[in-house]
This record gives sequence, C-alpha cells and structure tokens, in this order.
Amino acid sequence: MEFQVSARKYRPTTFKEVLGQSHVVQTLTNAIDRKRVAHAYVFSGMRGVGKTTVARILAKSLNCEQGPTSQPCGTCPSCVEITRGNSVDVIEIDGASNTGVDDVRELRENVKFAPFHGSYRVYIIDEVHMLSNSAFNALLKTLEEPPSHSVFIFATTEVHKIPATILSRCQHFTFRRISRLEIITQLRHVATQTGVTVEERSLSALARASEGSMRDALSLLDQAVSFGGERIQHSDLEMLIGSVPDELVRLMIDAILGHQAAQAMALVGQLVDQGFDVRVYCRELLERCRNLLVACVVPSRPQVQTLLELGDEEVDQTIAQAQQLTEPYLQAIFAILSRTEDGLRGSTHPRFLIEAAVVRAALLDPMSVVSTPTEQKATTSPQPPPHTKALPPLGSTPAPAKTGKVQTPTEKPGLPPSQRRPTPIGGTARMFPSSTPPDAEKPVLTKGLPPNGEPSKPSSQTIAQPSLGPSVTLNWEQVVERMIDEHPNIGSFLEKGSVVTMTADSIVLGYSKKDSIARWRTDKPENRVLIGQVCEEFTGRPIKVQVIEFQDGQEYPPSIGELRAKKKLEHNQDLIENVKAHPLVKQALELFGGEVVSAEKTPRNEEVR
Ligand SMILES: [Zn+2]
Repeated sequence: MEFQVSARKYRPTTFKEVLGQSHVVQTLTNAIDRKRVAHAYVFSGMRGVGKTTVARILAKSLNCEQGPTSQPCGTCPSCVEITRGNSVDVIEIDGASNTGVDDVRELRENVKFAPFHGSYRVYIIDEVHMLSNSAFNALLKTLEEPPSHSVFIFATTEVHKIPATILSRCQHFTFRRISRLEIITQLRHVATQTGVTVEERSLSALARASEGSMRDALSLLDQAVSFGGERIQHSDLEMLIGSVPDELVRLMIDAILGHQAAQAMALVGQLVDQGFDVRVYCRELLERCRNLLVACVVPSRPQVQTLLELGDEEVDQTIAQAQQLTEPYLQAIFAILSRTEDGLRGSTHPRFLIEAAVVRAALLDPMSVVSTPTEQKATTSPQPPPHTKALPPLGSTPAPAKTGKVQTPTEKPGLPPSQRRPTPIGGTARMFPSSTPPDAEKPVLTKGLPPNGEPSKPSSQTIAQPSLGPSVTLNWEQVVERMIDEHPNIGSFLEKGSVVTMTADSIVLGYSKKDSIARWRTDKPENRVLIGQVCEEFTGRPIKVQVIEFQDGQEYPPSIGELRAKKKLEHNQDLIENVKAHPLVKQALELFGGEVVSAEKTPRNEEVR
C-alpha cells in the first residue's frame, strides 16, 4: 500500500468529522439544509485548522447526487471526484501563485460556464490575500453579479489583507485554533489506527509544538515515525521538534519548589551545555508555573484540564503538585519568571539572567508570601515564648522550614483548592468571601517548622493589618522583625510607627509628634529604600515607603510596638487558659481550690516529667 501522510489520510470527509470548528459547521449545515447557501464565503484562521477541508466538504454537500445535503454520501461519482481532487466542477486555485489580474480574468471567463455534472461550480481560492489589487478589482466585478450556479470560497490566514469591498460581499467564518486536547485526542486516534506506540507526554509535546494546527501536529507525528519507527521515543521527539527536554523543565520546577538553588544553577548549566535556547526554556518554565497556578485555584478537575489543555496523566501530576503549594507563592515565582522573560529579550547575557532568576525563585520563602498559618486556638500543647519570631529570616533556617507545604487536618478529599489555603495572618476578609463555608476557616498545620519556630499562632494574637490583596500579603510585623534583626538602628524606630495604609505597592507609616526623632530617622531616603527592599524580599515586588506625621488631636492606629505588647499580653492569657485546661491542673484546682495567676513556658529540653 502506498504511503499516505496522516494529515491527508485522516482528513475529515464529512462535517461530523471536522474537529474544533463546531460554530462554522453548525451554520453551514443549517444553510445547506435550508437551501440558503451564500455565493461567497471567506474562511479565515491560522494554517492547518480545516479551512480547505471544510470548503471541500461544502463543495461535496452542494454537488452530491443526493444533494444539496449537509450529509454528502461520499460514494457517488461527484463525491468521489471531489475527495480525489479531480472534479471538473470544483476548481481549487492557489492564490499565492495566481496573483495577477490575468489569472482572475481567466477565472471570470470560466465562471460563465454552467456546471458539468453537479448543480454548482465551486471555486476555492486558497491564500486569497495574496491576490494583487487589480486582481481583487476584477474579482469584485464577478462577486457583484455572481452567476446563480457559482459559489466562491476564499480561504486566508490574513483576513485583514482582503479589501473591505470583497469582505462585505462574503459570509465570513473565523476558524479557531484547535485546542491541544482535541489535537491530542486525534493524534492518539491516528497512532492507534496506524499501530504506532507513543507516550501520552509525547502527544502533549506534539500538540504544544503544533500550536493549534492539526495539519502540523499530524505531519510532526509522521516525521517522528519516519525518524524513530513505530515506537516513538520521547527524547527523539523532543530533538525533532526542537523543544527543551521536558525533564529539564520538570527538574527545574522541582528544584525551585524544593529550594535547591545549587541544583537550579546546575540545570541551567546543563541546558546551556546541550545548546538549548534559554528563552524557550524560560517560556516553558513560565507555562509550567502557570499550569500549577491554574490547578491551585481552580477546584474542578475538568475545568483544570480544559485550561491546561494537557493529557490525563499530566493533569493529575500538576494537580498533585499544586495541592502542596499556595497561590501567593506561585504568583511570586511567576512574577520572577515573567520579569526574566521580558529581560531576556535583547539581553546579551541570557544565561546570567536565567541563573539569577531561578536562584531567586528557589530561595523565595513560601511563608513570607504565604501568610503565617494558624492552629486551633483550643490546643493544649504548650506555647513557645512570646518573643519567638513568627518566621526565621531567609536563608537561616533548615530546608524543611521552607517547604511551603500545608496540610489541612480537616480537609475532605473533594475540597476545592480555594478552600484549602491557610488562613492568612491579616486581611482574611479579602482572602475568603463571606460565602466561604466554615471548613475554610478551620485551622491549618504547617509541616516541618523548626523546633524553635512558632508552630502555632492563634488568630486572636495576630496583629491586625491591611491586606495587599489576594495575591501577596505583606506581613508588616515580619518586616519590622527582620529590620530589628538586621538593621537594629532603624528597626527600633519602626516599632514606634503605625501602619496608616498599605496597598499592593506602597506603605504609609505614621508617627505621632512625640516620636519625631523616630519619624525623622525612618524618613531618611536611604532608610526608606532599605525598608522597601526588605518588603520586596517578602512580596517579590517593589514597595514604596512613605512616612507622615500625625497632627495634634488626630486619631491614629496603634504603633507596631504597642500591638506587639498587646499580643504578648494576650499570649500569656492564652497560656493561662491552656494550663487551666490541663487535666492535672484541673484536678489540683478541684482538690485544693485556688487560681492560676501566671503561667510560664519552660524550654523544651527541660520539660517537666
Ligand atoms: Zn455524494
């Protein structure tokens, strides 16, 4: 049997078989069945999405011996001839090579003839936008008074190049790009039919490389078969389509999420050594990150699959990985990669840029962009001392502290991801709409916090602060703590200030008149820049710091120092409540009476037995 390329062999022969263009098919079949076929059509859309195929099916529908019918028989002489491409009544013209006015004049002469066998003479002009102006003018004369037996179908990838005078005389159909899922389904079908073994991820890679063109996808499949035989190796395929190996993309995402900066650096080296394009790589990382984001925020699996346009296996993997992550954290990684992609355009040091980006992403602390998780208030476990920091500074904690993995003890298997997020320290109103079921408000445990870190933080103890919006919540308390640690001379003055307003890219701090020295020190330009930089480390984007002085008699929010003192007090009261709730203490109180007046946390290693 002679070899036939898949794109031709599996070309749809009926409207029902046409993939991804249901809006066009629906309108055309209705028009045929109601005998309201227009004299001229424009089919526009990218290459390989079925424009010529639909044009031929339309021609068959009009000229079928059973027709005109939207379901041409496919077996009558007319149908067979059109399928073979040798019907005398269906004239296919390549606009790209017949651009001149003479070609169109010839066409106009031809149009006068009545059809030989069928009821219509159908003219299919491909790439019609290539015609010259004079050719279009000649064509226009025909379209102004078309013979009743003629139907023109103009196919084009660049509809904007067709003169308005022509367009206005045609019915215009826009063919959409074919979704990856539809392409994957068709590729799988063709592979099965032809006995080709191909992995699911290879089908995805083919679909991605074909960018919505079914013809390209099928011819890539043919190339893969002629390259490596009927058992397609994924690595061969990646080489063939010139894509960055999936493995390098997957490993990099794993390195970033696992906070392995050195591994990330090594992967870039590997990529460059193997001669892959850093820009393509960055784009693929960005896409992977976007997919995780989709899986993180969209609760319904079918919807995730539609948005991801990936096969079952990859969708499952993406969802599983996304369940370990939070949306603000992914947003922060996405922002880093996106900025890098912009920067790579025209950069003479693409390697350095991507290296810096992946290291930055790998060292991103999920807990600094994800608000601190909370634990059930009624806990009986002893609380750590109140001075313990909510979060250790970047880079000083063991790796497990920065996993960003959250675990919800109350989580139900089918709970949508939007309800799995940890409760933020501040601005909960923005994170959770009032309609959120109570489940979402239930406490969240964080895995792997260091022994000296604070494992729990009842929400009543948190310092109220405005939210930066759902994507990144700046924890001002953390910023102040970091400043006290690293720049104590400024940090101590920050404690005296109050947060007046906080937006996505700015924070306004206010000081009362009595703290004018603290205000003056904070307001020094170099100090404001420094504070902004620390904020940016937490949010992943620049934050502008502004300092104001409260007027006499003006009401202002409590300073961060006052809030911290209040928090400490509340914490001690909680500790007393916890002690009172302890069975032994309860028993002692019942036996001897009395009251618990103070409670103190003993260090873990000296725990009383
Ligand atoms: Zn027929």
